[in-house]
Amino acid sequence: MMTAVRGMRDFLPEDAWRLHRLEQAAREVFSRYGFHEIRTPLLEWSELFTRAVGETTDIVEKEMYTFPDRKGKSLSLRPEGTASVVRAFINHGQGQRLPWRVWYRGPMFRYERPQEGRSRQFHQIGCEEFGAAGPLADAQVIAMAMHFLAGIGLGNRLDLEINTLGCPDCRAPYRERLADKLRAHAAALCDNCQQRLARNPLRVLDCKIPGCRVVAERAPHAREHLCAACAEHFSGLEAYLGALDLAWRYNPLMVRGLDYYTRTVFEITTQELGAQNAVAAGGRYDGLVAAMGGRPTPAVGFAMGMERLMALVGTMAGGIAPPDFFLAAVGVEAQAPGLILAERLRAAGRVVEMSQEGGSMKNVMKQAGRSGAPVALILGPDEVAARQVMVKEMASGAQRSVAWDEMLT
Ligand code: ATP
Ligand code: MG
Repeated sequence: MMTAVRGMRDFLPEDAWRLHRLEQAAREVFSRYGFHEIRTPLLEWSELFTRAVGETTDIVEKEMYTFPDRKGKSLSLRPEGTASVVRAFINHGQGQRLPWRVWYRGPMFRYERPQEGRSRQFHQIGCEEFGAAGPLADAQVIAMAMHFLAGIGLGNRLDLEINTLGCPDCRAPYRERLADKLRAHAAALCDNCQQRLARNPLRVLDCKIPGCRVVAERAPHAREHLCAACAEHFSGLEAYLGALDLAWRYNPLMVRGLDYYTRTVFEITTQELGAQNAVAAGGRYDGLVAAMGGRPTPAVGFAMGMERLMALVGTMAGGIAPPDFFLAAVGVEAQAPGLILAERLRAAGRVVEMSQEGGSMKNVMKQAGRSGAPVALILGPDEVAARQVMVKEMASGAQRSVAWDEMLT
C-alpha cells in the first residue's frame, strides 16, 4: 500500500476545516493592522535561502529539501516564508508605499526528525512589515500576534519572551566577548557547540543540552553590550509593551536560529506541548533587504506553527455541518427531476446531498439518516407525476407534500 511521505500528513476535511478557521481568524485580525495577504511560490532557487536564512543555520545546513531541476539548477522547497517575501518585496519595486505590510500562510518543508509537533511538511502563518525602523512597529507586530492568539482562545496559555541581539555594530564586539567567555569553558560544551564557538557562538546560548545550559547561564548578555541606538530601541519597545499592558519576559538566552535577526527577537511558547514548545517566533531583520540586493529597508515579522496551534486549540465548535436537505429520489423517473431540484436548491444557497441511484425507498431513507440532514425531500414516481416533493422532518417523522415551485421560494 502506498503511504504519504514520512513526516507529511493528510489533512482530512475536519482538520482542513480547523486549519482554515484559524487562517480566517488570522486574516481578520491582521487586516485590522493593515496587513494583506501575499502568496509566493513554494519553490525557490536554493540560493535564496542559503543567502537569506544563512549558511550556518540548522535550516540551511541540514533541513532543506534541495534538488536540481531538469537543467541542473538547484531548487529548494521553501523552509520558511521570510526569504520569499523579501525577494518579492525587492522584485516588485520594494512595495508601492512604505510601510509595506503583508502576511502569508501555507506549507513549509524541513527535513527534520518527525515527532509530535514536528513534521517535514507543516503550515505557517506569518507576517512581515517593511519600512518602519522604530520600536513601535515591533510592539504592534507583537501585539497583533498576541491579539490573534487571544482571539482563538489561547490568551492566558502562552508565554511571550523577548530579547535583543543588537545590530552588526554592537554585535561584533559582543560576539567576540561571548566567544572568549565560552571558550574558557569549551570542555563543558557539547560537540555541536564546540563547533559553533568559531562559527556562530550566539547559538550556544540556546542549546538545550544541560552542560551547555550551565555555561550559557553565566555568559554575558547581548543587552549589556548594546550601542546607544540599540539600547534606545529596546527601552522604547519595553515602554510600548508596558503601555499595551502585555505580559512578557526578558530571555537573554533566546537568540533564534536564523542569522538575519537584528535588535528585537521574540518567541511565544506554551507549556502544554512538551518539547515542541514554540508556537510563534519572530523579530527584526533590518539588514536583510540590503543583504539580498535591495535598497536598505528595516523590517520586522513573525511566523507561527499552525499544527501546534491546532493541537492547543483542540476541538472547535462547528466543523463540517450536515446538509440542510437530503434529496431521496426513488426510481428511475425521479433521478433527473431530483438532480434538477437539488441544483436549484443549491443555487438558492442550500446544502443538498442526493441519494445514490437504484436504491429502494427503505434504502434511500437509510442514506438520509446517515447524512445527518434534518430534512429529507422524498421524490418517488407519484411525487414526480404531481410535481411535488414529500418533505419529511427526520426527528419527528412528520411529513407533508409541497409543490416544487413552493420548495424554491
Ligand atoms: P523549533 O525550535 O521548534 O525547531 P524553529 O525555531 O525552527 O522552531 P521557526 O523557524 O521560528 O521555528 O518557525 C516558526 C514556528 O513554526 C515555530 O515556532 C513552530 O511553531 C513552527 N515550526 C517550525 N518547524 C516546525 C516543524 N518541523 N513542524 C511543525 N511546526 C514547526
Ligand atoms: Mg527548527
